[in-house]
Amino acid sequence: MQVGTGKSILNGIAIGKLKLYHAPKYEISEAEIEDIESETARFEQAIQKAIDQQNVLYEKALETAGEDSAAIFEVHGMMLEDEDLQDAVRDIISGQKKTAEYAVREAFDEQAEVFAQMDDAYMKERSADVRDIKQAVLDVLFGVDPDSMQGSEPAILVAEDLAPSETVRLDKSLLLGMITREGSSNSHTAILARSMNLPAIIQCKEIDDSWEGHLGIIDGYHSKVYVDPDEKLLAELTAKMQEDEKKRLLLQELKGQENVTKDGTKIKIYANIGGPSDLGMVQENDAGGVGLFRSEFVYLNSKDYPSEEAQFAAYRQAVETLAPKQVVIRTCDIGADKMVEYMDLGDEDNPALGFRAIRIGLSRKDFFKTQLRALLRASAFGNLAIMFPMIISKWELEEAKKLLEECREELVKEGVAVGEYQVGIMIETPAAVLCADELAQICDFFSIGTNDLTQYTLAIDRQNAKLEPFLDTHHPAVLKAIQMTVEAGHRHGIWVGICGELGADMTLTETFLRMGVDELSVNPKSILPIRKVVRELDLGSGS
Ligand code: PEP
Ligand code: MG
Repeated sequence: MQVGTGKSILNGIAIGKLKLYHAPKYEISEAEIEDIESETARFEQAIQKAIDQQNVLYEKALETAGEDSAAIFEVHGMMLEDEDLQDAVRDIISGQKKTAEYAVREAFDEQAEVFAQMDDAYMKERSADVRDIKQAVLDVLFGVDPDSMQGSEPAILVAEDLAPSETVRLDKSLLLGMITREGSSNSHTAILARSMNLPAIIQCKEIDDSWEGHLGIIDGYHSKVYVDPDEKLLAELTAKMQEDEKKRLLLQELKGQENVTKDGTKIKIYANIGGPSDLGMVQENDAGGVGLFRSEFVYLNSKDYPSEEAQFAAYRQAVETLAPKQVVIRTCDIGADKMVEYMDLGDEDNPALGFRAIRIGLSRKDFFKTQLRALLRASAFGNLAIMFPMIISKWELEEAKKLLEECREELVKEGVAVGEYQVGIMIETPAAVLCADELAQICDFFSIGTNDLTQYTLAIDRQNAKLEPFLDTHHPAVLKAIQMTVEAGHRHGIWVGICGELGADMTLTETFLRMGVDELSVNPKSILPIRKVVRELDLGSGS
């Protein structure tokens, strides 16, 4: 028996044959070519085919993994369409008289290197994307069908690394789990694996070609990989896997049940979504509503400012589908780690402390009012709540509400229907926590964004993997800030929820209930497991 160790992406057990998945290695000729025209034409055809493939991958990811995960393929499509990158390839073909394959490798590698050298963590990660799309173009040029590499039997896939395009292409019905030598826990691959609900181990250095075809086990609970396990271990982990399956089925029985503790304390459990395509998951997992619709994905998935009509269609679909359940839509939280070129936000030394979220909305009122009008129109079709991100001062909320009121009056004058709606804010900074009493007097609810609240309270850049050892997600200062926010909200009669990742941390569910948190908004897959935890708690007995 061989044992490998790595980082687990998902708690779970997978048992099956190991299948080595090698990205094809190409022999690229460095010889000079004669026919520049036909070589350029080969490149043009290949790039177009690669762009078309990204569209197909986008649709596939949308179906299997939701909008957040699919967005990367839209980005890949845009990167392939980049004229500068395409011109760099054409210049190498014509200037150096090289093959299309050679020119693609050189130009794309150079672009990937430019990204790799950038300081910004988000831009650095784009380097892996450029290498991914380079592979896509080379696959087309070499006539390789990447779909044929998986084999036809159910297996645990073993690879050096898996690019997002490879992960999404995989036939999930044949996939038992994934093991890779490289990869980071926040990479697109890890996010896709999580949303596909597959046990996966990354950073497993022991991977070896000799594993091909052998029996393997992924123990996601202990971040271990076993090859040719002994009988005792195999029996033990098979039993654990069957137990997990039973639990999964039991969770299904929790659908339609209340989120109530044994002593009668209730909490709402809502879902976080990135767009209308996630609505299926909201319903499938029996969410009480949507506690965070990250509307910036509507902007990120668009090549230019999305029109009022396009936004209205997306927001209306969400509120109408889920009515009468509440849908909290957050106004555009762009900036920092989420950038779109067309907004031309400029470079900043400290983007996380920079021009982002409500600061952009209040500075660029036309763009903001387009979104507010779309939201108000959607309010006529269901139970909408509008939420402003990154509020730090009372005047910001007052100004945002004033603009909202201006839009409402305009619409009423135009004879357009506007429904009822709540207005709330994200609590994401120590400033908002410390001013919570004043803020609570002029809004209907607070939703605590623990991702940013942790970043700004602990002064730890949430994008910087180097700081992981210093990041205590249960830091007493963060928990104190949450408690202070809940108390301030309740003093003024408004509801308080949590929509950051901490809301799904089941080791804190009891703490949040004891604090009096009214709502947890979490990824749809966490809803039923949290419901189970809630229903097993008895706050009265202190257990
Ligand atoms: C948060 O900051 O916790 C949050 C929910 O917002 P985002 O992660 O989109 O910044
Ligand atoms: Mg945030």
